[in-house]
Amino acid sequence: MAERMIVIGGDAAGMAAASQARRRRDRADLEITAFERGHFTSYSSCGIPYWVSGQVTERDQLIARDPATFRDTFDIEVKLRHEVTAIDLDRREVVARDLAGGGEVRAGFDTLVYATGASPVVPAWAGGGVAGVFGMQTLDDGTALIDWLNGEPQPRRAVVVGGGYIGVEMAEALLSRGLTVELVEQADQPMATVDPDMGELVAEALRRTGIGIHTGLPVEGLAERDGRVSAVVTAEGPIPADVVVLGLGVRPNIALAEAAGLPIGPSGAVRVDRRMRVPGVPGVWAAGDCVESLHRVSGLPVHIPLGTHANKQGRVAGINIGGGYATFPGVVGTAVTKVCDLEVGRTGLRERDATAAGFEFVTVLAESTNRAGYFPGARPMTVKLIAERPSGRLLGAQIVGWSEAAKRIDALAVALWNGMTVDEMTALDLGYAPPYAPVWDPVLIAAREAVDALAHTGR
Ligand SMILES: Cc1cc2nc3c(=O)[nH]c(=O)nc-3n(C[C@H](O)[C@H](O)[C@H](O)COP(=O)(O)OP(=O)(O)OC[C@H]3O[C@@H](n4cnc5c(N)ncnc54)[C@H](O)[C@@H]3O)c2cc1C
Repeated sequence: MAERMIVIGGDAAGMAAASQARRRRDRADLEITAFERGHFTSYSSCGIPYWVSGQVTERDQLIARDPATFRDTFDIEVKLRHEVTAIDLDRREVVARDLAGGGEVRAGFDTLVYATGASPVVPAWAGGGVAGVFGMQTLDDGTALIDWLNGEPQPRRAVVVGGGYIGVEMAEALLSRGLTVELVEQADQPMATVDPDMGELVAEALRRTGIGIHTGLPVEGLAERDGRVSAVVTAEGPIPADVVVLGLGVRPNIALAEAAGLPIGPSGAVRVDRRMRVPGVPGVWAAGDCVESLHRVSGLPVHIPLGTHANKQGRVAGINIGGGYATFPGVVGTAVTKVCDLEVGRTGLRERDATAAGFEFVTVLAESTNRAGYFPGARPMTVKLIAERPSGRLLGAQIVGWSEAAKRIDALAVALWNGMTVDEMTALDLGYAPPYAPVWDPVLIAAREAVDALAHTGR
């Protein structure tokens, strides 16, 4: 009899695991069924802001593989609109609610992949069901927002609450649709994923776009008229809103895992080993936004919910389930985004992370340009490096600048991954031609300045 594999969650991590397992084992050996509570499989949440803005014109462009493709090409059965409500580890079965047809389904498993992802943080003041308030995570969320924006009366004033990368990307998307946009952030700067000095550069760029920025301002509630949101209420008064988008971060979807007794780590996400097995629970695997990862610089477990990790982790789980051998070696926290033309990249530890992890360090903020100074289109670029003292090992890096800025973080991520010192980095053989970089690339200039800063510490 074929082994039965069940996947909970039909997006990046879950379907990567299913596809990889199928590549190695055919249906006679392994039956694969995925349960997905939404309407779609293998979709790109990362593309939602660009779909809302109109740069991506069709929703279906964001779908890599639909259930028919999984069935016909991969022999993987997908049960859409089925929400798994319980995992019974003793009976080795899951219980699912059929959200479309009604009723309950029970399915037995030998192998289970827990890939439920994460959900937007919804504060108590937003939980009352006022129409016009949206968290962004799934294509269903994107559909609901676009329907609201196209509906009558047509929203003209948007408030985005939370200035993380999703909030900032959504603010830009709403602005480009012609809405007025106010971004409200409790902290002193938007983009808490970078240090405040770099976050201030992002805030300046946001202001130049015409987005109203309100920092250091917690939201206290919502006002409504006829059941529709009409304002976001703050200590400084109401900010009128016809639509509110929440960008307050996400929490891993662990409720099912917790109820079943799967181990939850200190970051609040499901614990896994490096092969993506759930420790102590034979036959159960987990991957994606619902799990925690090892941070290779701090050595601490972290919850960094990104598509890049979800795809890799799902692949690792699937290879192992398929009988191969693969490991997920951890993360260094690399991420890129943009605010209109301004690009932002980060990797490794921020100053506050480095302090919390007990490192001694120096920081440098190197100002340079994206191209040779004389070349048309040369624009400023700021590179921040955090280097351990006295060893000089790179601990973290952040970049803010215009074209060619964000993806420069990849060179720094590779240096970080390999434990390079800033001294070693000064000799890196990076590409140079006037349209792409000054003769000393901004990354090399920053490394040289970090070497000088270390020398001045006298240790
Ligand atoms: C607006 C936005 C922009 C983003 N941009 C980027 C980016 O630029 N770069 C990047 O790396 N990452 C980005 N991300 C993050 C990225 O989309 C996620 O990290 C990735 O989707 C995680 O994949 P996952 O499969 O782990 O979880 P998810 O994509 O959340 O999928 C989990 C699935 O499980 C389903 N599910 C949950 N519980 C159940 C249940 N009980 N029963 C059945 N189904 C269930 C959900 O419906 C969902 O479809 C972005 C996210 C958003 C929202």
